[in-house]
Amino acid sequence: MNPIQITKGFFHLAMSNFRDEGHPIELEAVSRLKICEKCDHRLMLEKELNKKIMDCPLCGCFLPAKARSGEFCPIGKWPEK
Ligand code: SF4
Repeated sequence: MNPIQITKGFFHLAMSNFRDEGHPIELEAVSRLKICEKCDHRLMLEKELNKKIMDCPLCGCFLPAKARSGEFCPIGKWPEK
């Protein structure tokens, strides 16, 4: 986890309230979060804890911010730019 990239992700997450859905960062975030929704690591943790998980179980990042940052999925599930 790169703190600068994650800070950037939180900035873009805040900005998402003012952007339309067609903004490239929002389109990319939606695509990334769809992959996270089906991620076995996340689903296993959700089952274990019996609650919705919004953090990546592998790196601990808050996914809505991570998906809007320059970070990568730690196991390469997100498409390359
Ligand atoms: S970033 Fe990767 S490892 Fe983390 S929840 Fe999403 S798909 Fe899974």
